[in-house]
Amino acid sequence: MVNTPLSPINVIDGASVRGHNGLYVLGCYDDRITFYSQQVRAIALIHALAEQEHLRNNPRIAVVGGGAAGTAAAAAAALACNGEVVIFEAASDLLKLQMGTDRRKLDPHLYNWPQSNSDDPVADLPILGWDAGASTEVRSEVVRQFEEICGRAENLVQKKTP
Ligand SMILES: Cc1cc2nc3c(=O)[nH]c(=O)nc-3n(C[C@H](O)[C@H](O)[C@H](O)COP(=O)(O)OP(=O)(O)OC[C@H]3O[C@@H](n4cnc5c(N)ncnc54)[C@H](O)[C@@H]3O)c2cc1C
Repeated sequence: MVNTPLSPINVIDGASVRGHNGLYVLGCYDDRITFYSQQVRAIALIHALAEQEHLRNNPRIAVVGGGAAGTAAAAAAALACNGEVVIFEAASDLLKLQMGTDRRKLDPHLYNWPQSNSDDPVADLPILGWDAGASTEVRSEVVRQFEEICGRAENLVQKKTP
């Protein structure tokens, strides 16, 4: 089977919430929700919004949830425009789900099995990339990069949801 790349319009359409202009959800209706796939969806959405000039006037952007999708979306959006990007997380920490277990391993491409690249350990992303490893180590690396982007992108703000 040949996978045809999605166009930016397809990507935006797939994430749009009908009847709510400017509201997007990532992954809710998709198969294969993994840490990596959610990062890819988030970065692809922001890229598509930029391509279609939705970020041209530096909109204010709220990202709800500091998981794999939210951290990637917020960081990508803050780098793609100068509008204020606020990421709201209800838990005490970003990527909370990936904390607290060294026994779970994250592999970026494992779900591609039996394709030949399923054992490729590198999550080759333009931002917040990581290598296969214990969930806690992957989390630490992604949070480190996220905080580094927060440090240089003054338009990226973290808020704890009350
Ligand atoms: C037990 C378990 C094992 C898993 N194992 C693997 C694995 O081995 N490999 C793999 O790739 N994937 C695995 N997954 C799936 C992976 O965890 C998810 O694909 C990934 O976490 C999805 O990221 P997300 O950002 O969409 O959602 P989440 O990680 O769920 O992040 C959503 C965030 O939003 C926050 N939030 C929710 N509501 C609000 C609100 N109203 N205001 C503010 N913040 C809010 C939550 O606190 C959370 O931090 C596993 C999942 C579970 C549950």
